[in-house]
Amino acid sequence: MHMPALDDSIQFVKGIGPKKAALFQKLQIHTLRDALETYPRDYEDRTRITRIADIQTEDKYAIRAVVGTEPRVNRIRKGMTLVKCTIFDDSGSLAVTFFNNPYAAALLHVGQEYLFYGRVQGYGRGRTLISPQAEKLSADASHPGRIVPVYPLTAGLTQRDLARVTEAALAAVPGDWPDPLPEVLRAKYRLPDAADALAAIHRPQTAEDVSQARRRMVFEELFLLCCGLQQLRERRRADPGIPFVSHGLDAFFDILPFAPTGAQRRAIREIAADCASGRPMNRLVQGDVGAGKTVVAAALCVLAAQNGWQSAFMAPTEILAAQHAETLAPLLAQLGITVTLLTGSMSAAQKRSALAAVESGAAQVVVGTHALIQQSVAFHRLGAVIADEQHRFGVAQRAALSAKGSAPHVLVMSATPIPRTLALILYGDLDVSVLDEIPPGRRPVETYAVGENMRRRITAFIDKQIAAGGQAYVVCPLVEEGELNLKSAEQHAKDLQATLPHRRVAVLHGRMKNAEKEQVMRDFAAARYDILVATTVIEVGVDVPNANLMVVEDADRFGLSQLHQLRGRVGRGSRQSYCVFFGADKGQTARERLKILCRTGDGFEIARADLAQRGPGDFFGRRQHGLPALHVADPIADLALMQSAREEAEALLAADPALHGYPLLRDRVQRMFREENGEAFN
Ligand code: ADP
Ligand code: MG
Repeated sequence: MHMPALDDSIQFVKGIGPKKAALFQKLQIHTLRDALETYPRDYEDRTRITRIADIQTEDKYAIRAVVGTEPRVNRIRKGMTLVKCTIFDDSGSLAVTFFNNPYAAALLHVGQEYLFYGRVQGYGRGRTLISPQAEKLSADASHPGRIVPVYPLTAGLTQRDLARVTEAALAAVPGDWPDPLPEVLRAKYRLPDAADALAAIHRPQTAEDVSQARRRMVFEELFLLCCGLQQLRERRRADPGIPFVSHGLDAFFDILPFAPTGAQRRAIREIAADCASGRPMNRLVQGDVGAGKTVVAAALCVLAAQNGWQSAFMAPTEILAAQHAETLAPLLAQLGITVTLLTGSMSAAQKRSALAAVESGAAQVVVGTHALIQQSVAFHRLGAVIADEQHRFGVAQRAALSAKGSAPHVLVMSATPIPRTLALILYGDLDVSVLDEIPPGRRPVETYAVGENMRRRITAFIDKQIAAGGQAYVVCPLVEEGELNLKSAEQHAKDLQATLPHRRVAVLHGRMKNAEKEQVMRDFAAARYDILVATTVIEVGVDVPNANLMVVEDADRFGLSQLHQLRGRVGRGSRQSYCVFFGADKGQTARERLKILCRTGDGFEIARADLAQRGPGDFFGRRQHGLPALHVADPIADLALMQSAREEAEALLAADPALHGYPLLRDRVQRMFREENGEAFN
């Protein structure tokens, strides 16, 4: 018989076949190896049995109980059946309802004991176990429950199909399965070896198995990450920098429409010193929204141009890129410096001419998204790279730069405060300038947290602000299908237009084409609209000084730091600005959170409060900080492990920089950092 190998297609697994294999492809599972590397997204702990009397909250429970009443089938309307019965244990009884599963009635027998597993909904007498799975128990079963892995699924596949292929995959794991983690580290941190960890992840016996295996996987992932980062850092340190001679930035300061703040001057001085040093600059400029980071970046562009080098100025979105280009072009033109916009949504002809200007060097400052540093864009002489909102400019991009053979000066700019430990790991190679001074003349944004009962007054307030010459943003959360009580941006814009027919309302959302979005932004900036109803596409960086009112719908759905960023869109001009958060009527927690924003305008304080209230996982959400995607580790929750991983990576690489003694580890690090980049210019 043929021994299955990990590179075999899963379609030869018993019970799978070509049809199901096609569905598995949607989960990126082609071979047994893929199945092995697809970890459960969760586990159902059916070993922990809850007595019926101990059920407190709406949650999933494993309940060992006897069926007490004959299951009854009700057809409530066409195509909809309910099966109901009651179950009991020695502590009490509980109602059970199966939706659209008439076979459940035939499955359950009065007087027989089962292990039920499912979600309990409702409270008190209305408490019901909804569509549970039921496993028949023999009278003497002592350890009935299991830890059941729950895999990501796609339509047409069941947990059973996933269990089948992972079973086959585990069987195909050879006895001498190699382990990329050095033995000494495994011993030191008491980590199971790779093969055991895999088995435990897919087929745990106990909850402890899962947590040990997970710990090992997390350590491995973080260790690989830290090794890769460390190597990148070393490689960059070895690069010679392009020396920029500073001819004095007085001419630049002269063309600014305002006097730079002390903090801006300091940051610019630090940048000039870095660039003159003969080493490549790697600097992070951190400053709250509105602190004036763009000017600092512009100074670097001027410095580069004065020395005959090009700059790439990258924004996280095309809208922001267009905005930066529109700000920088007229400003730098006064010094004879040309600014060129290059984005994916430009017409083919525009792109061609922009690319030609980049290649010839005629474009001295090139503004675009991260696609700028991709292979397809050939710069004549790239001397400086600026990444606005750095958390989206990651290691992979920095690696792509090194790979291009040049060592330009790099400036990353961020408004997101990140905890120090994490910063050390992610940006340990960066020097930091802090813009801790807000430009003068700004009045704090008056902030209110309100409920629906204020709806009419707020609408009237919007109208009044516009009458006085201002403009308003109204931000709606992204609405997922099936969320009934939330308005989409489009609907809200229609409603608002109907209520205020004499005002010009525009809408901006993620499904619009980039060119359309840019046009709307441009029109709003030119005051051709009074109100811009938008999803969070406007979250970062948009600058329209005449806008003085920010209204956020369902603000309880946003993180505090995100709300603070949104508020930062106003308060930029001399007009008194206002911010209104709806959602204060969504419970006490929501109200208290929003009150924090009414109290303070300090981004760092808000981030701390956010962290304290929601916990780190939420605070960072799914954002990846531009790192290679982490599949098991959470850089915040696993901070302690991350610290160990970093120390160990440093120690190992100090002894063996190229990992000659660890070929498997070296391969795995390379694999992790080999980056697929989404956007392209074609
Ligand atoms: P951010 O740090 O959020 O990127 P921006 O660079 O967009 O901030 O600047 C916000 C606004 O403040 C812009 O309209 C900019 O022109 C203005 N600004 C920047 N620096 C100063 C300054 N020193 N004095 C007055 N206004 C300034
Ligand atoms: Mg900005």
